[in-house]
Amino acid sequence: MEFQCIDDCSQCCVEREYYPSKKFGKIGVLILPEEKERIEKLAIKNGIKITILPRIGISEKKDSYPTKILAYQLMGSEKNGNTCPFLDTQSGKKSPHGGFPCKIYNERPLACTAYPLIESDPITLDEKCKFCKECGTADKNLNSEIEALLKIKEKMVPDVGHIWRYATNVGEIEDQEIMESGWILEN
Ligand code: SF4
Ligand code: SF4
Repeated sequence: MEFQCIDDCSQCCVEREYYPSKKFGKIGVLILPEEKERIEKLAIKNGIKITILPRIGISEKKDSYPTKILAYQLMGSEKNGNTCPFLDTQSGKKSPHGGFPCKIYNERPLACTAYPLIESDPITLDEKCKFCKECGTADKNLNSEIEALLKIKEKMVPDVGHIWRYATNVGEIEDQEIMESGWILEN
C-alpha cells in the first residue's frame, strides 16, 4: 500500500509523547547537531521563538556528564510540550493534504521528513501516525522518508561507551511531580 497523509491531519506536528517514560518529560522533534544552527536561523528569519534542548549525549566515563551531544530536540510551543512552533495554526492556510502547513516545510528537520518511518528494514511505521491507525501499514511512496531515516541513523551511532538521555521536564501539569530535568545516564 502507498503511504499518504490522512486528509486534514496535523497530528505529528501537534502531539508530543513522553519518551521513554513520564520521568523524562515530553520529547521534541529530533534535531541533529549539524541541523541546529540552520533551524535556529530559520526561526529568526520567520520571527518565531523556539526552544532547542539536548536529547542524547555520550561520555567515555560513567561518572561524568556527556562530552558530546548526538542529538538535540525542538520543543513544542505549548506549556504541555505540544505543537511545533513552526506549525502555522493561525493563518488559515492548508498543507497539500489539508492539515496545518509547516512554515519551513522545504527546510524542515530530517526527523520530520523521515516520519512516520521508524525502521527501514523491514519497513516499519509509527503506529501512532493517523495513517497507520486507519490503514495499517504501507510499503510504497516512502523514498524520501527512507533516505532521511538512513541519514539520521548514520549520524546517531555512538562512538564511545555511555549514553545519556536529557529529561525535558516538559509535560502536563498533573505529571510535574514525576518529571525530572537534565541528563540521566542510560547505560
Ligand atoms: S504523518 Fe501521519 S500523523 Fe503525520 S500528518 Fe501524516 S497521517 Fe497525520
Ligand atoms: S518542523 Fe514542520 S514538519 Fe516538523 S514538526 Fe514542525 S511543523 Fe511539523
